[in-house]
Amino acid sequence: MVKYVIGDLLNPHTLHTSGQTSPTTTTTTTTTTHHQCPICLEVFPWVSYLRRHVRIHTGEKPFSCPHCPFRSARNYNLKIHLLTHKKQH
Ligand SMILES: [Zn+2]
Ligand SMILES: [Zn+2]
Repeated sequence: MVKYVIGDLLNPHTLHTSGQTSPTTTTTTTTTTHHQCPICLEVFPWVSYLRRHVRIHTGEKPFSCPHCPFRSARNYNLKIHLLTHKKQH
């Protein structure tokens, strides 16, 4: 199910599935639009951001620690890992 969503996001042809096919009318695309990642539940204001973000989930370990070579497939795990760096301070 999740994989289907990812494929949907990565496919540029399925971008307008939610809208009522009106690409010519650029009337400020709704202010309440927020696109949530189905994997880490992070919310992005633009679908292009979400699409680029979701792509990292297709990789093996998208979340990498800036302080050490630690990498994780889940944002939560990285957050837990980052706490260990804070403790050393
Ligand atoms: Zn995500
Ligand atoms: Zn680290």
